Amino acid sequence: MPTNDAARSNELEPDFAPAGLALPSWQAALKHAVRDPAELLRLLELPASALPPAARTAFPMLVPRGFVARMRKGDANDPLLRQVWPHAAELASAEGFSGDPVGEQGLAAHGVIQKYPGRVLLIASGACPLHCRYCFRREFPYQTQLAARASWSAAIAALRDLPGVTEAILSGGDPLSLSNRRLRELVARIGATSVTTLRIHTRFPIAVPERVDDGLLRVLRETHLKTVVIVHTNHANELDAGVERALAALKPAVTALLNQSVLLAGVNDDVETLARLSERLFACGVVPYYLHLLDRVAGAAHFDVDEKVGRELIAALRCRLPGYLVPRLARETPGELSKTVVV
Ligand code: SF4
Repeated sequence: MPTNDAARSNELEPDFAPAGLALPSWQAALKHAVRDPAELLRLLELPASALPPAARTAFPMLVPRGFVARMRKGDANDPLLRQVWPHAAELASAEGFSGDPVGEQGLAAHGVIQKYPGRVLLIASGACPLHCRYCFRREFPYQTQLAARASWSAAIAALRDLPGVTEAILSGGDPLSLSNRRLRELVARIGATSVTTLRIHTRFPIAVPERVDDGLLRVLRETHLKTVVIVHTNHANELDAGVERALAALKPAVTALLNQSVLLAGVNDDVETLARLSERLFACGVVPYYLHLLDRVAGAAHFDVDEKVGRELIAALRCRLPGYLVPRLARETPGELSKTVVV
């Protein structure tokens, strides 16, 4: 996510079509996204007094209008609104919360990060389809750490230098901020290395489902790599009919389609909400994979949920859902060789 004025320069904008060409619909949706908190309140028919004043931070509000349309009008506690509203609490410092909660910024070189054996992560783009206020990369130095520099050459060379890498993980920002042309180029370059599996972490099919267009599906279908797409959904209300259609189109083009969520106070920290989310994901053909405990990034303390509560929620989910609909509760600890599955 962009973090300051420099980060909002064109370099970190989504990979827009050249001037003069009509924008694909997903790019138009992003261009016209809501960036003004006062406008968001107006659209939701909420008085200014309904929420704490919007915090002015280096991580500005960004919400596509299609996502706003899934929020309940007149409800200041709407769970989708809570994920994007720059709450005044972001300005308060909180013990244990920092700008680099998973300790990855010192590991990055040429936009490539190796945290775990056999897998590397490429920071493919600094742009996102929406700004999630709890994002653990809200202070990531995208200006200096983008794999896209020099047509991916430095990133691909760094990847080749790492022994035994079989999986490349495209992350960001959101890697689907890249145009289909640039994505095809990146996937081809990865496909020419020892990598056999391509994993894409994306919130685009949820935030801007128009992104799942024919060009993207072609890129995914045509690569020889096994493809795993992990979407990011936190609440069943995010999954409307447009998202369901996008996921249905995506599913046959990939090897596996999974979801990860973050356990967020006031959004999904109750068993009813989590059960509905798993059931709705399944109806959309997506397997609930991880429920992450919050990465303790500065500005997100108001989303924190105690690990004990997380354990209790998973236990309650086990009593009412089949095992394949119960996500793994996980947390990331800096320096460990894998995520820690709590339960
Ligand atoms: S959680 Fe994903 S989509 Fe949301 S701001 Fe962070 S990188 Fe972007």
